[in-house]
Amino acid sequence: MIELLFLLLPVAMAYGWFMGRNSIKQKDQTIKQDLSIKYSTGLNYLLSNQKDKAIDSLLDALKVEDDSVEAHFAMANLFRKRGELDRALKVHEHLVRHGNLPTKDKEQAVFELGKDFLSAGLYDRAEKMFLKLLKSKNYGLKSLTYLLQIFQSTKDWQQGINHRKTIVKHNDKRLLHTLANFYCEQATSALEQDKFIEVIELLEQALKLDPNSCRANWLMAKIYVNHKQCELAGKCYQDIYQQDQEFFPDVIEQMHQCYLDLDAEDEFFRFIKIVYDETASSSALICYLSHVEAKHGNNKAKEFMLSALKRRPTIRGFKHFVKMQMNKPDSEVNNTSLDLIRELISEYLKVKHRYSCRNCGFNSSTHYWSCPSCHEWEQLKPVRGLEGE
Ligand SMILES: [Zn+2]
Repeated sequence: MIELLFLLLPVAMAYGWFMGRNSIKQKDQTIKQDLSIKYSTGLNYLLSNQKDKAIDSLLDALKVEDDSVEAHFAMANLFRKRGELDRALKVHEHLVRHGNLPTKDKEQAVFELGKDFLSAGLYDRAEKMFLKLLKSKNYGLKSLTYLLQIFQSTKDWQQGINHRKTIVKHNDKRLLHTLANFYCEQATSALEQDKFIEVIELLEQALKLDPNSCRANWLMAKIYVNHKQCELAGKCYQDIYQQDQEFFPDVIEQMHQCYLDLDAEDEFFRFIKIVYDETASSSALICYLSHVEAKHGNNKAKEFMLSALKRRPTIRGFKHFVKMQMNKPDSEVNNTSLDLIRELISEYLKVKHRYSCRNCGFNSSTHYWSCPSCHEWEQLKPVRGLEGE
């Protein structure tokens, strides 16, 4: 009898294993059914435009199945794009609070939550989120970019400068350029109070971070001129030309004044001739013409102007050409007509914008270091082409 029981033991084990497996399968099936019901209920709510009920139902589904995380991110991003920030916040906050998410998903949730706060204008809360991610491999650089955006909006330049070490470590050109402008902002305030050493130190830091920051050289030239150090200022203007040829026409007048004070006008015009040859800028042309006229007379200047206009016609150049024609004292009637044409051109140019943003195309008659439209630094430059430089 005992032998028989031993013989039945494997059968009993096989039966137990089979029943156990069946029970797990049944449990899995129940969970999946439950999940499926929660999803279809959520989707139904979403389709019938009952979004809050839809969110609750879908968040419930997340408690059961972690695989649905991607769907939740997609849903929250959709809400944010539609301007429904409260709903996006609710989903992202839920994901942040979720205990079992992998680190990558958790970081994404914190990052997206920061973006929600930023879109809602809640800068302090957004800042807290991005600060949490500074050491993250995937979100460190992106978070730092948003942090600088926040400090730029709040004009908290020092806060940005406090992150200098991390920014330098990332060695991202765009961030270095932004930080250099934070130093320039501080230098502008120091310049207003004429704090010579402080201005120079701040601008040296800016140039260290971004050697192409023409704003730093522009400010440095200003403080040198204020302190009668025109030779150093002249060097700054020359550096601006090397850094940004498109911006340079805006400093020609200041540079001219600087060389006048140095009694080195010939050197200045030699430089401007190179600028004109290399860039064909109308400001450089008009400036150089005054030198040709003074040295070689009106006729030579007109000849130069005509060949320049043939080479590259601009309205500003043409206006100057009309002015040169008016210098003839022989015909009063002729001068009156030319004056009228010149007036018309002046009025036409007045309604044209002097600057355009190279990043977003924003046009303005005033120069801004940070574009009022896209907030990029040092992108507003004199307009090129027929109506510009
Ligand atoms: Zn712009």
